[in-house]
Order: sequence, then structure tokens, then C-alpha cells
Amino acid sequence: MALLVINGETVAAKSGAQMPVVNPATEEIVDSVPRAGPEDVAAAVAAATKAFGAWSRTDADERARLIREGLAKIRAAQPEIAEILVREQGKPTMEAAGEIHHFIHGMEFYADMASKLRGAYAPLPSTLGKSYGLVLRRPVGVCAAIVPWNFPLTLMGTKIGPALVAGNTVVVKPASTTPLSTLKVISLFNEAGLPPGVLNVVTGPGRIVGEALAGHPDVRRVAFTGETQTGRRIMEVAGPQFKRVTLELGGSDAVIVCPDADVDKAVKGTLIGRFWNAGQACLASKRVYVFADVFESFMEKLLAGVARYEPGDGWVKAERPRIRMGPLHTAAQRDEIASQLKDAVSRGAKVAHGGRAPEGREKGYFFIPTVVTDAPHDSRVVQEETFGPLLPVFKVRDIDEAIRLANDSIYGLGSSIWTYNVKWINKAAQEIDTGMTWVNQIHYGYDELPFGGVKASGMGREHGPEAVDYYTEFKSVVIGDLE
Ligand code: NDP
Repeated sequence: MALLVINGETVAAKSGAQMPVVNPATEEIVDSVPRAGPEDVAAAVAAATKAFGAWSRTDADERARLIREGLAKIRAAQPEIAEILVREQGKPTMEAAGEIHHFIHGMEFYADMASKLRGAYAPLPSTLGKSYGLVLRRPVGVCAAIVPWNFPLTLMGTKIGPALVAGNTVVVKPASTTPLSTLKVISLFNEAGLPPGVLNVVTGPGRIVGEALAGHPDVRRVAFTGETQTGRRIMEVAGPQFKRVTLELGGSDAVIVCPDADVDKAVKGTLIGRFWNAGQACLASKRVYVFADVFESFMEKLLAGVARYEPGDGWVKAERPRIRMGPLHTAAQRDEIASQLKDAVSRGAKVAHGGRAPEGREKGYFFIPTVVTDAPHDSRVVQEETFGPLLPVFKVRDIDEAIRLANDSIYGLGSSIWTYNVKWINKAAQEIDTGMTWVNQIHYGYDELPFGGVKASGMGREHGPEAVDYYTEFKSVVIGDLE
């Protein structure tokens, strides 16, 4: 059994309870972890509270050095961590290696920023006597990082990176289905010399452990990634205590393909954007709007590309030209995709590829990558988030119709446009209500740029230097009596 990390030590839940972690490709139990409760959350928050004072006063360079020591250990253990990630999450080995690389890159980005966080100086009017102002940047305190199962490591990194360099301490709550890679990585940071209590992890059900953490009075900041509905619950729990909350929620990103697009590149971008991680990404390309002029050539190339995907075990390499796609993460996730598809088909959508589980596999939550056309715009595949390998494609008349349909969603996370027409690029950037727009580029969360949504996709930003602002409080100081 893997163990919790509290105050630099690995411990079981106080109750002794455990919960299994299941491999989505085989449905076999991979390992078990503690099924913690509020008493374990209290111990982790107490450790983080105790560690906060010294950590917040530690030299920024020293904080960065300790993070880098941890990253060196993680780099050395990369094959082992990738294997854990494949077995608990289901993703192919190549994607797991990519996730670890992205995690390390993001943590290095913040380690580099540690000594560059600045406050400000402000000249002041001398009405009350000569004085000047300073704006100090102070860490918030104990932070909670609540992480989902689709990218357990990168989505933890976007929280612990800015938190730690700014001098905060953290308690991480991983998804119950993907706790193992998190426990491993956090153990390595602790082994590398991070002071006890600076980085803790508690595993257990969201409803119990997540809520206890989000509602704990000593937790001053809650960073959450997950479902929109869970985000609402976090706000109910954390809001009355005026905690600093950021929510990275669901998305339904639109892709617009214009008549002048490089169709090959647009198809490749759409395929990777939709089917990476078996479609289980918040920023995945979830709806495609193609101008009539290029619709047929786009569809022909898209279907040829989709046919290359081979659902299978993440640790078995696909033979070229096949591309490995792992299983859906849970049976519920697969059933949800099947039910969204059924709704669209019952309302006139046509399945151009896939639409079912692969034959000949008794175990594992696999689903063949699926493309549909003619789905009504008020059907579930459009109006809900499709968190799996299911892609509706639409023909549009012009840029105005494309943008109107892109905006016909409660979500507003990302969007993309494939064109070299500068007026259309500008229009998409200005008029699509999302936190991000990619132009001739695959949907991807760059560590360097702020990322997050509008509307039901959440509030606040992760990534980029901007993320650190959510982990610091500005304090104004007036220095007077100078003459
Ligand atoms: P959930 O919201 O179910 O879970 C996310 C995390 O919250 C898990 O650790 C979960 O724990 C925990 N949790 C669940 N209920 C509560 C609660 N009441 N209080 C506190 N914590 C709780 O999301 P999923 O794991 O299903 O993740 C998929 C969703 O995340 C998708 O909708 C996706 O779009 C979104 N997402 C958004 C991203 C973004 O950046 N905008 C990025 C990635 C995903 P447990 O596992 O124990 O239930």
C-alpha cells in the first residue's frame, strides 16, 4: 500500500481504512492507498501551518534549489513514475512520459521565477507629510490543491509550482482513482530535502477529504481543477470563509477551419487536440466548424486519421501507422460518452466513424474514437462537455456563423481557428468568449501563458507568471515622517 505524506513522513490513515486503485485497461487492482478522513486532513493542515513560517522566510533561491533537487529525483525516476501513471490512469506510455516532461517543465518555470517576484515602490503626495509607499508581496499561507484524474501530475504542478516558490505550504488532494503517481512525486520532493510539512498529500473521497480541506479554517487558498458541478460545491464550502478560490472547470472548445486553412495541419491539430488522453482533456478540441469549401477534404482526411487510432493497453506500443489510444478512465466515463452519442444519433446525427466499444475485449473501458456529423446544436454532444473520444463536425457558411456557434455554449475555456486571414484571426481572438484562442495551433496549455476559462469554465488563471498573483497577497506599507 502507498502511504499519505504528512509532515515529511509516510503514514497510513488514522482509521486504517484503505481504498483500491484500479487499472482502467484491465480492471485489475494496481495497489491500494489510505482512505483518509477529516482527522488526517487536520493533521496535514496542522503540519502545513507549522511549516509555513520558516518556509515563507526561506531565501527564494533556496526554495528554488530545493524544488530543483526534487525535480532531479523525479527525472531519475521517470520510467517508474510513467509506469505508475499508465497503470492507474490508462494513458499510453508515450503520453505518460509527455505528462512528466510537462510537469517538470512547469515546475522549472516557477523555480526560475522564485527570485524574480517583485513588489512596488510608489511616490505619495505630501499632504500628510513627506512619505512614500511600498507594495509588498506576501504568501497567502496554507494552500489546498484539489486535482482531477485526467492529468494528475501536470494539474498538480500548476498549483504547487506557484504556491511553493511564493512561500506557501500545500496540502494536495489527488483524485481517488489516480493517487499513486502523486504520492510518488511528493515523496520524492520530501526525500530531496523539502522541509517537513511544506508539501503534504492526503488521499480519500472528494466528498470527505476534499470538502474537509476546502472548508478547513486554516486553509487560506483553494486551487481546484475538476467538474463544473464540483466547483460549485467548493465555492459553497470555501466561499463563506473568504478563501482565495480558483476554479479550472469543464470546457467545450470549438475549432474553426476556414477555406484558406492548411487542411492537413488543421486535421492533425484536431486529431491530437481531440484524441490525446482518449479525449479526456478540459482543453480538448470538442466541436469542429468547417467552411463548406473545405468540408469534404477536411472530413476525408479526418476520417483517414481517426482510423489510425487503435484502442489498447497503454503499455503496449501500437505498430505504425497505428496510434495507441488508451481506455476511458472509468466505466462511468465510457457510459457517459455512449449516452451522449446515443442522444445525438436519436436526433438525426450520423456516425462517420466508431460509435461503440471495440470487439473482443472483455475487460477495460475502451471506446473507438468517434466522429459524428449532423448533430443538432442543442444536443448533448454540443451543449455538454464530451470528456472522451467523441467529435461532432459541422459545416458553416461564414465566419459570423462559425463564431456564433462557437459561442453557443455555457463553457468558455478555449477555442481555435485555422486560417491565415488576419481579419478572421482578429475576429476570433476578439469575439470568441473563451480564456484562450489558438491560431493554427493544437490546443495545449503552455506553462508560459495564463490559462483558464470564462463562463462555466471557471475563474482565475493557472500557468504563467500571472498564476503567482493568486498565491500572494499585496500589502501596502506607507513610510512616513521622512523630513
Ligand atoms: P471531479 O470534480 O469529480 O474531481 C476533481 C477532484 O475533486 C478530485 O480530486 C475529486 O476527488 C475532488 N472532489 C470531488 N468532489 C469533491 C467535493 N465535494 N469537494 C472537494 N473535492 C471534491 O472531476 P473529475 O475528476 O471527474 O475530472 C474531470 C473534470 O475536470 C472534467 O469535467 C474536466 O473538464 C475538468 N477539468 C478541467 C480542467 C481545466 O483546466 N479547466 C483540466 C482538467 C479537467 P475524488 O476523485 O475523490 O472524487
